[in-house]
Amino acid sequence: SKTAIVIGSGIAGLAASVRLSNLGYRVSVYEANAYPGGKLSEIQLGDYRFDAGPSLFTLPEEVDELFRLSGKKPSDHFQYLKLPVLCHYFWEDGTRLRAFADPEKFAKEVEKKLGEPSQCILDALQHADYMYRHLAPLFMHRSLHRWSTWFNQWALASYLRMGKLGIFGTMDGANRKHFKNPKLVQLFNRYATYNGSDPYQTPATLNIIPHLEYNIGAFFPKKGMHEITLSIYRLAVELGVEFHFNQKVEKILVEKGKAIGVKVGGEEQSADLVVNNMDMVNAYKHLLSDQKQPKYLLKQPKSSSALIFYWGIKKNFPELDLHNILFSDNYKEEFNHIFQLGTIYSDPTVYINITSVYKQDDAPSGSMNWFTMINTPNNKGQDWETLIAEARAYIIQKINRVLGTDLEPLIEVEEILDPRTIESKTSSSQGALYGNSSNNRYAAFLRHANYSSDIDRLYFCGGSVHPGGGIPLSLLSAKIMTDMIKETETRG
Ligand code: FAD
Repeated sequence: SKTAIVIGSGIAGLAASVRLSNLGYRVSVYEANAYPGGKLSEIQLGDYRFDAGPSLFTLPEEVDELFRLSGKKPSDHFQYLKLPVLCHYFWEDGTRLRAFADPEKFAKEVEKKLGEPSQCILDALQHADYMYRHLAPLFMHRSLHRWSTWFNQWALASYLRMGKLGIFGTMDGANRKHFKNPKLVQLFNRYATYNGSDPYQTPATLNIIPHLEYNIGAFFPKKGMHEITLSIYRLAVELGVEFHFNQKVEKILVEKGKAIGVKVGGEEQSADLVVNNMDMVNAYKHLLSDQKQPKYLLKQPKSSSALIFYWGIKKNFPELDLHNILFSDNYKEEFNHIFQLGTIYSDPTVYINITSVYKQDDAPSGSMNWFTMINTPNNKGQDWETLIAEARAYIIQKINRVLGTDLEPLIEVEEILDPRTIESKTSSSQGALYGNSSNNRYAAFLRHANYSSDIDRLYFCGGSVHPGGGIPLSLLSAKIMTDMIKETETRG
């Protein structure tokens, strides 16, 4: 039978292995780490469990589809619930707001707490829905690198609406047009961070992101985020995919313009096609160093990175939910620090994710597992030891001010993830969370395609290639890629 090698078992590599199995391939996955999932893994610290990377889960049907495709009922294998509250927002002046998933309820809360007419919110969400309907088919579900994408009814309808779809302004500009209250502008600007971008630079088209949360929903897997990885991994094993852990691929073997296999552990393994799920920049640097380099694509700026403190906190804070944001008093300055100055701001926006709110066995009773994160610049060789020590102090001071507590004595266990360790644990270039940033309107077109235009039978998936980072887009990259393989096969 036909054979395929997948390099990396990130979420897209796992999805690719399932999809290729369903196309009749015998699939081998080589993974550098001892575990599957890449960024989507977990850690255990004493009695506390933490999801190590992603915490927000949208578009769960992209996971469900993998089970359906394999002839299985998704809910028998992977269960999740829809969140009634998307996020708790806190400001330094004491303002607190709950972002209800129900748009009407959210609009009322905003009117009550921020004095903005509820109709403004409903209009903004409707606009996000409109943009999503026009942009998603074009940018999320198809290759941008095939002519057929550009000559179809969706594309034509979207060109006619480019101005209205916000190609020409920034996210912040659009939000300031929609809303009067600066806190509300800030709340909606935050969505730029969902793909590691800067709201003061990123195009207003990214205002489709709130649509995912408010109009479709945010979800939580009943067994935690890591269950996304585990359930797809189990499915792949059931389908006969062979996994090789602790096996770092050294080279993609190319002969006469065709990928013919990989070199791993000093040995050559051949296959009919090769799928690369490793970060694209590092794949060219390490696995394809003797091949033609797509220089322009390789030098595109990367998304932001993050600094995370996994803290076991021996106290219950009833005012905190699964997702919590303690906003900076000067958002613009914070992004200036991240994207221009390449350092950490003294009043950072602090995100606290607490899975024990929904999954109680993640922390001992009366305690909580805090995944405490700030956005940071990506790794350019800064003095991280100093920056981390400073940031830790800023974060604790901020939490103390906003929640009126004394946090330090409550921290029972601690582990830290920073841009350097994100880079070393997942081979992510500069420790970027989402591959390239989207800080200009051409970014969508400057991601690597899901195939190689120079090397036959070499394909790409994952957060560093089209359509971009984050769990749903990474999963979609595997789908676009396998659709292409299928199409090539039928064409013969
Ligand atoms: P990756 O997770 O990047 O994994 C690549 C895999 O390839 C790794 O396992 C690596 O070991 C392996 N590999 C690399 N080189 C080799 C080699 N030479 N040989 C063999 N194996 C190799 N997304 C969301 O949707 N929601 C969130 O809330 C969210 N928050 C995030 C928070 C953090 C802290 C981080 C780090 C990311 C977050 N993301 C979030 C982004 C999301 O995690 C990624 O976009 C997604 O997981 C990327 O998947 P991937 O398939 O590209 O693979």
